[in-house]
Order: sequence, then C-alpha cells, then structure tokens
Amino acid sequence: MKIICIGRNYADHAKELNNPVPEFPVVFLKPETALLPKNNPFYIPEFTNDVHYEVELVVRINRVGKHIGEQHAHKYFDEIGVGIDFTARDVQQRCKQAGLPWEIGKAFDHSAPVSNKFLKISELSDKDNINFHLTRNGQTVQTGYSRDMIFNFSKIIAYVSTYFTLKIGDLIFTGTPAGVVPIAIGDQLDAFVENQRLLRVNVR
Ligand code: MG
Repeated sequence: MKIICIGRNYADHAKELNNPVPEFPVVFLKPETALLPKNNPFYIPEFTNDVHYEVELVVRINRVGKHIGEQHAHKYFDEIGVGIDFTARDVQQRCKQAGLPWEIGKAFDHSAPVSNKFLKISELSDKDNINFHLTRNGQTVQTGYSRDMIFNFSKIIAYVSTYFTLKIGDLIFTGTPAGVVPIAIGDQLDAFVENQRLLRVNVR
C-alpha cells in the first residue's frame, strides 16, 4: 500500500507557512513504514528539533482505479478516518530552500499515524462538510471542515489517479487546516472526526 498526501489544501494553512495557494494539488508520498504501529508512542526522531503535527482527514481507497473521472471518484471510497502528517519542519525547510525534494522531512518512519477506526461516510450527519479537530493535552489546536478544502475528495482522487494507480487500502491524507506548531515530549495528541475520538498519539 501507499500513502498519498496532499499539501496546502486549506488556504489558511498555506498562508501561515507563507506558501502560495496552489493551482493544482500538491502531492507527495509516504511509504508504508511511515505508519505508526497501533498504540505505539511517537518518538521524536534525533534528526529534528521541530516536528509539527498536521491533523488531516484520511480517505481509504476500496477499489482499484486509474484515470478516475471526478464524477466517479466517490465510488472509490466509503469511509473516512483521521491521521497526523508529522513533519520535521526544519528538515523540510532546509530541503525546500535548496530546491530539493523534501521526503526526508515528511516521510520518515512513523510520520503518518492513522486511526484504526474509520467512519462510514453514508452515516455522517453532513458528508459534504465533515468536521475534524486535534487536541493537544486536552486543548483544541486545529479545527477543520472538509468544505474548506481547496481540492475536494473527488478532485484529489481524479488528479492523483492520473499519475498513480490507486489500489485497495491506499490512504490519502487530504491536507491540514491552520494551527500547526512544534510538538514536545510528553504531549498527548487526540484526533477527532465529528467529535468522535479516533486516534490518540503520545509523544515521547
Ligand atoms: Mg500535511
């Protein structure tokens, strides 16, 4: 399986990092080794002093597809979960400034915790405006609504399937809203969809 991530998909977050609002989806990949095994803590890696959380809605693909039309994209997933796109911002920044790819700041081991539980989209109260949020030590630090995505789920699936065959079990991280700051050892991060806690990550 692969993890496909969309960057700068919420205008307020693009702005807080001084990035332009994109004309096309910003796409990068994380390998399977980026998943955080169930109930494991997240250890801040030794190569960074500046890991940020980015809470994101995560789509799990349930059909194989390539060149998926936007109007058919909704048939390729029926559940939504939540994940944290951990980012070594200092490493990413260094790569960006040098004009180099920034995978090492994004796709390192355990940089993509994902909820075990996914919610059936058909059972959500408003599937066109899914609410999600992240708390850090009990305080809400990021809140998002899927309606605010620059590229919605269908546009993302159509775009990425132009380049990559989507396979069953592939995950798509769909971008983070504003509010990203560095984590610290001892933090407890809880991620919610529609006020249901689906993911807890302890930082060590
Ligand atoms: Mg992200």
